[in-house]
Amino acid sequence: MSRFRSSRFDRLAAYVPGEQPRERKYVKLNTNESPYPPSGAVLEAVRTAAGSLNLYCDPTALKLRQAAAKVFGVEPDWVLPVNGSDEILNFAFMAFCDGDTPVAYPETSYGFYPVLADLHGIEKREIPLKGDFSVDCRDYLDLHCTVVIANPNAPTGMTLGLSEIEEILKNNRDSAVVIDEAYVDFGAESAIGLTKKYDNLLVTRTFSKSHSLAGARLGFGVGRPELIADLTAVKDSTNPYNVNAMTQAAGVAAFGDNGYYMDNCAAVARTRDRTAEKLRRLGFEGTDSKSNFLFVRHPRIPGGELYAKLRERGILVRHFSKPSIADYNRITVGSPEQMEALLEAVREIL
Ligand code: PMP
Repeated sequence: MSRFRSSRFDRLAAYVPGEQPRERKYVKLNTNESPYPPSGAVLEAVRTAAGSLNLYCDPTALKLRQAAAKVFGVEPDWVLPVNGSDEILNFAFMAFCDGDTPVAYPETSYGFYPVLADLHGIEKREIPLKGDFSVDCRDYLDLHCTVVIANPNAPTGMTLGLSEIEEILKNNRDSAVVIDEAYVDFGAESAIGLTKKYDNLLVTRTFSKSHSLAGARLGFGVGRPELIADLTAVKDSTNPYNVNAMTQAAGVAAFGDNGYYMDNCAAVARTRDRTAEKLRRLGFEGTDSKSNFLFVRHPRIPGGELYAKLRERGILVRHFSKPSIADYNRITVGSPEQMEALLEAVREIL
C-alpha cells in the first residue's frame, strides 16, 4: 500500500478471481468457461476488426446493440453492452445505490456483490439462503433496497421461476431489481420479457459462459430505455469506449451464430446431468444445478481436501472457504472428456 491511497479504501477486500494458472496444463474446471471454441464467424470478425485498431471503436456499439436487440426481443436502446457483466454490475451499484439506498442480495451468491458494495460504500443487506440453499422470494419483498439476485444463483446453480421473480418486482416497485443471468442459457427462464412490464427491472447477461467469449470480456444490461440511459451515463463518465472494436465485432458475429452457441449450452447441460448422476453414484450430494457447474460435497472428504487432491492430479475446481459452503466444491461442466478425467481422479481419491 502506498502513502497516497485514499482512506476510503482502507477496508477494501478486492475480489479474488478463480486461478488462471499458466505453469502447468490443468483440466480447468474452476471458472465456468465454455469448453467449446468461438465459432468460425467470430474468429473471422475479430481478424477483420483487428485491421482497424488504429481507430477508436464505436462508443455507442450500435451494431452490437442492434444484434443483441434482435436476439433478446427488445429495441436497441434497451441494451447496454459492457466489458464483461462485472462492469454492468459495477455501473448498476453506482447508478442505483447510495447512502440512502442499500443493496440486498442472497448471503451466498456471487462474490463480487459485497466487493462492489464495499468499493462504493454502500450498506449491504445479506439475506440468508434457506437450509437447502434455495432463495426464498418472500425474503425479498418491500426491502427498500436495490435488489440483486443471480438466477441461476452461484455457486449453487439453483433457479427461481419467473413467477417468483415477478413477485419480487411487484413488491419492490420503487427499487431497482437486478437479475444477473450469467448462467441462464444452461437451464433457467430469462426475465428479459418482464422488462416490458416492469420499469424497475435490469437483466444482466454475459457472453463469458454461454458464448465462448470469456477472454473477450462482453456482457450486457437489458432494461427499459430510462434505466439503460442511467447506466450509459455512468459508462460515459468512466470509460466511454468500454467494449473494444474486436469484442464488438465478435459479439455481432456470435449473435449471428446464436444457434451454434445454444447447441453448445444444451450439450453442456446434458454433460452436467450425466456427470451429476455419476457423482451421485459415487456418494456425492449436491444441489439441482441448472447452470454450467455442479455444486457438490462428499460425506467422507472435506471440500478443501478434495480440491487439493484434484489439483495434485491436474484437475482444477473451485473451493470457497466460507464456512457455510466449505464442504462443497464448485465444478465447472467441461467437455465429456474433461468430465471423464474428473471422475477418474475422483474414483482414485475415494
Ligand atoms: N455474475 C455471476 C453470477 C458470475 O458468476 C460471473 C462470473 N464470474 C459474472 C457475473 C461475471 O462474468 P463476466 O464479467 O465474465 O461477464
